[in-house]
Amino acid sequence: MKFSSPVIDQAVAAFKTLPGIGEKTALRLVLHLLNNDPDDVKRFLTSIGKLITDIQFCKRCHNISSNDLCNICVDIQRNQKQVCVVENIRELMAIENTGQYQGTYHILGGLISPVDGIGPEQLNIDSLINRAREFDIQEIIMALNPTMEGDTTIFYISKRLKGLAIKLTTLARGVAFGGELEYVDDLTLARSLMARLPYDNYLSNQK
Ligand SMILES: [Zn+2]
Repeated sequence: MKFSSPVIDQAVAAFKTLPGIGEKTALRLVLHLLNNDPDDVKRFLTSIGKLITDIQFCKRCHNISSNDLCNICVDIQRNQKQVCVVENIRELMAIENTGQYQGTYHILGGLISPVDGIGPEQLNIDSLINRAREFDIQEIIMALNPTMEGDTTIFYISKRLKGLAIKLTTLARGVAFGGELEYVDDLTLARSLMARLPYDNYLSNQK
């Protein structure tokens, strides 16, 4: 589609870079903004701009944060000796939404996937192992998607943690193999978190 103004062309192209937005939707959003109160549009743009200027990542768990450490890592009400390992921020949010978890998190930023060329060195695994040592962590809960990549990542991390006195657990499989954690309902997710299993048991169940 060609638009009457290069300004519209550029705005539509910008919206199309967002996931799930095609040209028609992009145009609809652009036209909506054009019809809006200019002050509202400015406020909208300022909030987007702040994503670049005001957001950083927690130096300990890699969560989104406005400071060096995120709200969860500085909360003394939470169990700082318990770490729930998740693939990304969406999964952290899904677990937080259950309201059932009082420990902390560690965001890996992906899963080990040799097919996609993603190795352990590209993920936040070293920082997890260092954290486990430095902060005397007692339990690490592997809350990763039940896929081949998830299992490979758990296996790799379990090897790296060998020799440390840490209880390693995985989610109980209320989540179907190949399922996506962030789409699981709160109740199922909370239940599989509560009924988590020691990783050794999990390995022998797989055989
Ligand atoms: Zn944090």
